[in-house]
Amino acid sequence: MFLNTRGKSHDLLFYETLERRCELTSVEKSWFKTFQKGFEGECLYDDIFEDVGHDDVLVYRDLYLKLGKSVTQYDALVINDDGIVVNEIKNYTGDYKVEGGDWFRNGQRISEAPLAQLNRAVGKLIGLKNSVNGQFGVSGKLIFVSDDFYLQTDDNSLWPKIVVRMDLRRYLRGFRGGKIGNKSQFIIRLLSENIVENPYIDNNVDEARLRKGIYCGQCGSFSLIKSRFHLVCSECGSKESNETHLLRAMNDYQFLFYGKPMTRTAFSYLINEEIHWKTVSRALLKHCYINKNGVSTTYQFKYKDFDDALSKGDTHIKYKDYLTQK
Ligand SMILES: [Zn+2]
Repeated sequence: MFLNTRGKSHDLLFYETLERRCELTSVEKSWFKTFQKGFEGECLYDDIFEDVGHDDVLVYRDLYLKLGKSVTQYDALVINDDGIVVNEIKNYTGDYKVEGGDWFRNGQRISEAPLAQLNRAVGKLIGLKNSVNGQFGVSGKLIFVSDDFYLQTDDNSLWPKIVVRMDLRRYLRGFRGGKIGNKSQFIIRLLSENIVENPYIDNNVDEARLRKGIYCGQCGSFSLIKSRFHLVCSECGSKESNETHLLRAMNDYQFLFYGKPMTRTAFSYLINEEIHWKTVSRALLKHCYINKNGVSTTYQFKYKDFDDALSKGDTHIKYKDYLTQK
């Protein structure tokens, strides 16, 4: 049973948002691709696990745990009465070689050290287990989800720590018949006491780079024609309500300026005052938590992201959107 959902990471959402409002540098493009690929790999793992069935285990996905003094991220933790299995998911593609503990792709050494990363993640959980004198196992596997991943190594001790795509179904099926009893509950309680939010968010962008205004949710064009309650895209003809546009812009603000309080002025600047301030004020009051600090008022978006906002019941959009087919 999956215990939580897996969403796009903050980093991925940051680059998705940034790309809509400016030209990415080559370094940014490369990070964007890395995060996209990572997320695709994790979704693929989830799909296969879903297909194989996960009734006999409890699975945490994309979890941050504060263990000791540091915070560790886990792609997946598979739990039953036997203990915890860490699954570190890698969406590597191409020819890899491991020599003397170092990883190479097409002959070039890569910056990541997957096995060391896995060992560290497992070690942290062993520390947690020992701190409560827990009687359960902790182990881990590196999961390579792509069928276009090839590994060569002279180190035979590596193979037992690795699951490649070809063996992934069989590996996940291996969890069938496990027991979820008191011990699993104990582990879940123990983990949940240490769950934290991702502390590694430090994205912040130079405002001058950003294109101000609002843009079509379908094709990204900034060329919109106003009607009373909607904006119509002059490129693709999609018609979205003012409120939808404002929700998207609030979403953009929170990912582009993480941790920076949003005032009405700052928000209006981002949207280039293209929607009437009264409509903006109403939307801010409806979709944000309000912090009053002396004379200044700041707004904090209530939702995780734009999709979350649209899916929430209280985000009833009075004026429907009409998106053209892609
Ligand atoms: Zn459009």
